[in-house]
Amino acid sequence: MTHLTLQAVTKRFNAAHAVDSVDLSVPDGKLVCFLGPSGCGKTTLLRMIAGLETPSSGSISFAGRDITYLPANQRDFGMVFQSLALFPHMTVAQNVAYPLKLRKSAKDAQARRVAELLELIQLPHMANRPVTQLSGGQRQRVAIARAIASQPKLLLLDEPLSALDAKLREAMQVEIRLLQQRLGITTIMVTHDQREAMTMADEIVVMEKGRIAQAGKPLDIYRDPVSEFVADFIGLGNILPVTYDGAGGVSLPGGRRIAVAQAPRLPESGRDIRLLIRPEDVCVKPVSGDAGTNRVAGTVTFIRDVGASLEATIDCAGFTLTAATTPRETPGLALGMPVYAELPPYACKLIAARAAP
Ligand code: ATP
Repeated sequence: MTHLTLQAVTKRFNAAHAVDSVDLSVPDGKLVCFLGPSGCGKTTLLRMIAGLETPSSGSISFAGRDITYLPANQRDFGMVFQSLALFPHMTVAQNVAYPLKLRKSAKDAQARRVAELLELIQLPHMANRPVTQLSGGQRQRVAIARAIASQPKLLLLDEPLSALDAKLREAMQVEIRLLQQRLGITTIMVTHDQREAMTMADEIVVMEKGRIAQAGKPLDIYRDPVSEFVADFIGLGNILPVTYDGAGGVSLPGGRRIAVAQAPRLPESGRDIRLLIRPEDVCVKPVSGDAGTNRVAGTVTFIRDVGASLEATIDCAGFTLTAATTPRETPGLALGMPVYAELPPYACKLIAARAAP
């Protein structure tokens, strides 16, 4: 069942479109990430869903009810926004109990719910500790417990992990995702971190200049981006300007022809074409015999070997490729070494080049 529906939602600040005609359906129980570069309109879109900002036009409905102009405090949504910090003068338990107190729920019901939530976020032993004495990750967990205390139907998270260091952030991503799945609570999260979105989301909505550039399952977007913008934003990629010959092949920069499995799908004619190949799809082979189809000759110019994975930069005539492999798969790879980079036809995607600004 679709819980939240946005129809042609637009927000203008003066003449500028922060959000431009966004249509979106968020199914029940799913975690959806709004992902995009700074200024693309993610936060504005989330704030309109929260009721903290009014759309200039369009409509928002939730569980079949039009909520476009419903005040935020009547929506019963849980929120963790960077700006909505915990109350520093209160303990962990008092913070979590706050929304229950506002709703005037009975004292013993409040105590039961707080105990249940502290168990859920694995901080029952810290109930009486002031929140100022918690670590960043613990504080974040308390903020989430407070947001879900009154069992909201929708949880809205705006960059909830941005203040944490990399390791804690990764741990919290898993924790929030597991909690969300356990509770089955429909969640929308804003992030500009594509790894975070890939880790946590059922669906990613990639935004570009106020519009949805692509929406779909994380791996579908990763494997089949619709444009250079999306390909570049989701994961690492080799993106090369190419010419399609109309017969299953493209000319790479420098003129070498390789075969591709799919003709380009362009949103409009006249757009330039780019070839996308992800680093893990570039196979590095020792030089022996003829290069053959879809192998290009190059020289290794950089190696980043971090033990578990190895990334090599290969300078080919006219362009550079990044290949991701492992030290075990490519033993003996060294700087200056001549190699073949194999670009399998199935892994070569042809996409529309970025529109001129
Ligand atoms: P970030 O990742 O940097 O937070 P974002 O994708 O969340 O960016 P928004 O904060 O939604 O982007 O902003 C979208 C655009 O709207 C930006 O150009 C921003 O300057 C503009 N904007 C946002 N809020 C206002 C406001 N209150 N008044 C005027 N312009 C605004």
